[in-house]
Amino acid sequence: MDLFEYQGKQYFARFGIPVSPGGVADTVDEAVKQADAAGYPVVVKAQVQVGGRGKAGGIKLADNADEVREHAGNILGMDIKGHVVRRLWVEHASDISKEYYASFTLDRAAKLHLGMVSAKGGVDIEQVAEEDPGAIARIHIDPVDGLTEATARQLVDEAGLDAEARDGAVDILLKLYTCYVEGDADLVEINPLILTPEGKVHALDAKVSLDENASFRHPEWDEFRGLEVLDEREKLAREKHLQYIGLDGTVGIIANGAGLAMSTCDVVNQVGGEPANFLDIGGGANADVMANALEVINTDPKVRSIFINIFGGITKGEEVANGIVQALGRVDLKSPIVIRLDGTNAEEGRAILKDHESDRLISRPTMLDAARTAVELAGKGN
Ligand code: GDP
Ligand code: MN
Repeated sequence: MDLFEYQGKQYFARFGIPVSPGGVADTVDEAVKQADAAGYPVVVKAQVQVGGRGKAGGIKLADNADEVREHAGNILGMDIKGHVVRRLWVEHASDISKEYYASFTLDRAAKLHLGMVSAKGGVDIEQVAEEDPGAIARIHIDPVDGLTEATARQLVDEAGLDAEARDGAVDILLKLYTCYVEGDADLVEINPLILTPEGKVHALDAKVSLDENASFRHPEWDEFRGLEVLDEREKLAREKHLQYIGLDGTVGIIANGAGLAMSTCDVVNQVGGEPANFLDIGGGANADVMANALEVINTDPKVRSIFINIFGGITKGEEVANGIVQALGRVDLKSPIVIRLDGTNAEEGRAILKDHESDRLISRPTMLDAARTAVELAGKGN
């Protein structure tokens, strides 16, 4: 789960990493209130999960309420690389002497944590890595040993941070590493990490990606979830514990297994259609799960046909078919269904479906046939 900057800063603050005081705003009036509370000058920041907001005009300094009004009005609703700004973070503006970079992430190939620090922060770190790779100091950290103060200092020295920033940077690195490990993140990144004219070091931006596999020990993550940008379909799917991602097309998709669900999206594309969603119902495919999946897809006004693509493995074909039939009895579907059932006991499963076939429930022997039929039905605008 990726956090917005303001959530990342809240997370940082829990681990003692210094950030600027501020607050969120969803309207221009709220932005002014937050600015008054934070104290002028302030910086008004678009909250979207994409980098380069500054260059895109999504980050503006404001000296007074009128300027906050102007900038907040411009930034709310702005489209930054396909992400529409719905929320702002308004914080007390910092004076900047230097902009640095610091991060921890997992180096999967090395099977170790990787710490990176650079004196060339603020700008695109990918660009620095490309044009001046020597400007990024890197260090591998064995998770058993953890990050020691000596190692943190070595990293800061190698990066060549200004002398007056080094103690502050070491302190932040140690806290950032704790945030990364104890906070169960895959990535923690501060860009820029700034040095102020007063010699203080603090985080001006926050990028945090949490490891969902650890969510069971972080009930407090729920507060981040409520604020995620989900559309209505995705909200319903989450309530029903389905692996669902909304897309823009007209063919609703249900498949068992993430790989098959992706292939199903691909094959729909291949025959000239557009998937309305990705939906992986996992291994079970029983009536409850199937009914939930159909219900979510049924709420999507763009859907014109539904393609159910199931490959029976441990779950046998007849169980899947019975699940589908029962589910159909529970959900009042707006669109016709095309089913491709294969794998263990596919014959038995298809025999069950046959008794229920109509122009609203069509069974097809192969994935490609089923995709063609589903796309054709979607085109007819049922
Ligand atoms: P990003 O462009 O999405 O990475 O957004 P950042 O939060 O990193 O901000 C981009 C740039 O805006 C920073 O590198 C700073 O140069 C500038 N900026 C952000 N906050 C402040 C601030 O409080 N004061 C000043 N002077 N500049 C800021
Ligand atoms: Mn940044």
